[in-house]
Amino acid sequence: QPVVGILGGGQLARMLALAAAPLGVKSLVVDSSADACAGQVAPLVVADWTDYEALERFAARVDVVTFDFENVPAETAHWLAQKVSVFPAPRALAVAQDRLAEKTLFHECGLPTPAFKAIDTRAELDQALAMIGAPAILKTRRLGYDGKGQFRIKTLADADAAWAALGAQATAHGLILEAFVPFDRELSVIAVRGRDGDFRTWPLTQNWHTDGVLSLSLAPAPDIASLQARATGLARTLAEKLEYVGVFALELFVKDGQLLGNEMAPRVHNSGHWTIEGALTSQFENHVRAVLGLPLGDTSARGLSAMFNWIGELPDAAPVLEAVDAHWHDYGKEPRTGRKVGHATVCAANAQQLVERLAGIAHALHRDQQADPAVRELG
Ligand code: ATP
Ligand code: MG
Ligand code: MG
Repeated sequence: QPVVGILGGGQLARMLALAAAPLGVKSLVVDSSADACAGQVAPLVVADWTDYEALERFAARVDVVTFDFENVPAETAHWLAQKVSVFPAPRALAVAQDRLAEKTLFHECGLPTPAFKAIDTRAELDQALAMIGAPAILKTRRLGYDGKGQFRIKTLADADAAWAALGAQATAHGLILEAFVPFDRELSVIAVRGRDGDFRTWPLTQNWHTDGVLSLSLAPAPDIASLQARATGLARTLAEKLEYVGVFALELFVKDGQLLGNEMAPRVHNSGHWTIEGALTSQFENHVRAVLGLPLGDTSARGLSAMFNWIGELPDAAPVLEAVDAHWHDYGKEPRTGRKVGHATVCAANAQQLVERLAGIAHALHRDQQADPAVRELG
């Protein structure tokens, strides 16, 4: 029985392990915490990223290594890659870990981005603001997620506050200033590339964020006829340049019909959770297939899906459990402000049916404000 080693034991690892099991594939997870979420469904090695003795024993027990956590140190990934196959390869991981390298690659692939400038000092922040103007967003180049490590600069007078918030991280992680894009909407491409180069994308997903954290995804995104082929082509170019193996997400802004690249995630992605129930093959199953060199599954959508993230704490499950074609995911994590603790996906055959199902559930959960954007988008 093949064994997939997963670095990081969050909900992504849990969903990977759950998708691996029916394929006859076992999972072994590494996490520094003994109560990591994936430990509920797969054996867990408790070790940190520099515990090379434990990682040596882990490597000996697995056939291939992959990631739940995109910020595994590059040295750890390289070290493991000398002992066992690691997918995506450490080089692809390294590019995706650095917002500067990532945006530079987007340009090489013909994907424009918001204007940006790397920054190391306070003086460079002033220079970059003079170039880019306000509003802008100051971000750490490395280690940011869920909107952490970001400061929104509304006017030039916010420069001091931005530096006070993030300046201390300039030396260790580097900073980048980006123009704030008043985008029309946000989309993501979830894509998969196999070891043999076979490449597929799921239909584009539309996403809404609250305080920098994904709150709602709708897939397939409405009115994407003119964007799907271009987005798929860009994702394919990116994957081929990186010789990428596995699932990744490309986050895009749409402004006046143009696509701009925000970032890529070198792993299965929150905006692809709808594929578990809403697509013929889920992102998790296809990732397992890809890293093991198995044939990839069909990525078509079954109908329409909306996915709600539960942030901080879970609402009452009953309305979702009672609804037709609605699916509940409780990650079994301790409630904590800003933490992703679960999600629910509601599926339907067409837009009208989805609007009806969302309306019913949103009311029961007192979540009308979350359901609204999807309902508006579906007309
Ligand atoms: P993730 O959890 O997706 O990894 P992250 O912390 O890496 O998030 P980003 O994706 O860079 O952060 O930003 C989070 C959200 O903030 C984006 O999805 C978008 O809604 C908004 N945002 C980020 N950069 C910009 C920008 N330049 N202009 C407008 N909005 C932006
Ligand atoms: Mg990110
Ligand atoms: Mg993002």
